[in-house]
Amino acid sequence: MCTTIQQNLAEVTQRIVNSANHCGRDPKEITLVAVSKTKPVSLIELAIQAGQRRFGENYVKEGIDKIIHFSATPFANQLEWHFIGPLQSNKSKLVAEHFDWIHTIDREKLARRLHEQRPIDKPPLNALIQVNISKEETKSGVSTSELLELAYKIHKFDRIKLRGLMVIPAPEKDVTNQLATFTHAASLYKQLKAHFDGIDTLSMGMSDDMPAAITAGSNLVRIGTAIFGERYYS
Ligand SMILES: *Cc1c(COP(=O)(O)O)cnc(C)c1O
Repeated sequence: MCTTIQQNLAEVTQRIVNSANHCGRDPKEITLVAVSKTKPVSLIELAIQAGQRRFGENYVKEGIDKIIHFSATPFANQLEWHFIGPLQSNKSKLVAEHFDWIHTIDREKLARRLHEQRPIDKPPLNALIQVNISKEETKSGVSTSELLELAYKIHKFDRIKLRGLMVIPAPEKDVTNQLATFTHAASLYKQLKAHFDGIDTLSMGMSDDMPAAITAGSNLVRIGTAIFGERYYS
């Protein structure tokens, strides 16, 4: 049986391939994280059946409920859970204990807590620094000028593995403008790579701006709506 989720995943995968081919990149370089926030485990299950293994969640409790649910299934060891929402320091322990990745480190205090709270029987927590690339006052993320300083601090925490950067640009319909912002992010990523070993992940691109992100060099896209449909918040 071919489900909508399965079809959507196939379409998104095809769009990734097309975008990569269009700019001469190898599509295999690009990782797809399926953003399942607000969506029930039944839909995640369909995505898993269709072969998807990496999922992104924004809310601590909801994400952990899902991780625990799937930890009792045969797929448990194959799944990779990415925390992609803003994180209050007082909720860091649950993320340190349950997730494989965090995309939203933007301050030393949060990184230090995650480092101290990461369980010893787990590998270091994979981490991305979120950069406030559009300089939005209300948005989380470190400023571009403070990025390297924060990276040096995080790099010292051995229970955290700094892997790269994540950005969420301000909504922008014009593809040329999207591309300019993503290209700026890609240049910061290159800088980071030049300063530290082990930097290999540039997380950018969502349902509405994925092609521009891939053109600029993204190697991890976070796609929700195009896979699971619109989100309804109660
Ligand atoms: C919700 C969310 C996404 C997915 O957005 P879509 O437009 O539904 O693809 C990606 N990244 C982050 C950080 C999100 O919060």
